[in-house]
Amino acid sequence: MDTFSYSRPTSLDRAIQSAAKSSRVKFVAGGTNLIDMMKLNVERPSELVDINALGLDQITATATGGLILGALARNSDVAHHPIVMRDYPVLSQALLSGASPQLRNMATTGGNLLQRTRCVYFRDTAHACNKRDPGSGCSAIDGPNRMLAILGTSKDCIATNPSDQNVALAALEATIQIQGAKGKRSVPIAEFYLLPGTTPQRETILQPGDLITSVTLPPPAPGSKSLYLKLRDRAAYEFALASAAIVIKVTAGKIVSARVALGGVGTKPWRSHEAEAALTGQSAARATFLKAAEAALRDAQPQSENAFKVELAKRCLVRALTLSVA
Ligand code: SF4
Repeated sequence: MDTFSYSRPTSLDRAIQSAAKSSRVKFVAGGTNLIDMMKLNVERPSELVDINALGLDQITATATGGLILGALARNSDVAHHPIVMRDYPVLSQALLSGASPQLRNMATTGGNLLQRTRCVYFRDTAHACNKRDPGSGCSAIDGPNRMLAILGTSKDCIATNPSDQNVALAALEATIQIQGAKGKRSVPIAEFYLLPGTTPQRETILQPGDLITSVTLPPPAPGSKSLYLKLRDRAAYEFALASAAIVIKVTAGKIVSARVALGGVGTKPWRSHEAEAALTGQSAARATFLKAAEAALRDAQPQSENAFKVELAKRCLVRALTLSVA
């Protein structure tokens, strides 16, 4: 680990000014991901700006029935919050399916949005990795790639977004509030993540100095249900091979609306408008769910070791839809 300087500002403006100086200045909150990366020399910041004194940990109901999650709200606090459990069970379930209790007690909403891939080559500086070292190549494409993505990949990177939270937030159509050197802005989660393309080192629209301040969940549609289902190699403390987040409303046996996002298979939290189109207006029945699953995975491009994910993700989606309308 390289040496670095450390500051703990108490004002948002001061924190942003510090981080805007250089892309090598990093914000730290729970530290559950960044510190790991620093120990591996994957991240080598010149300065850490500790944002834990900024008071961004509140969870607040909005006047219109939505919910604002402060960027520093801990994953465990969000998962167990009574409004989240009542109105956004997909988010509570996603958070509780991830990591361990100890990590969830430290990890934050904003940090989870920026969680880095678990691609083993990204985490091992002895190997080429375009995401860590642009232009160096991708060791995973011809290497062990069982855990990696089948949707949204490029010839330069096939890394999976590892988060469960972000899949739920995609299905909930969350909005991310950002404050930076040029002021404040709100970005729908659908516009927040970038596909790897030829620049896999750029994962989001954030610029140096941009700080996520909160995440807003829209009010749940009356009568809608939501659910998160995660399939993985072991029952706890493991990343998804495939997961599905569902927000669905069924009236008199017909699907009035549906939002679907997949995890474990995409280079970003994977919203499937194809599945949603196959569901909307149709009977809430297995035949419909099977068509939706086919539509969701139609463009999948398996790697040498993960063709199984295509069928697994389809089954995950069918099962999640079945459970969500039960
Ligand atoms: Fe790096 Fe992406 Fe290739 Fe993994 S898949 S080695 S993160 S470029």
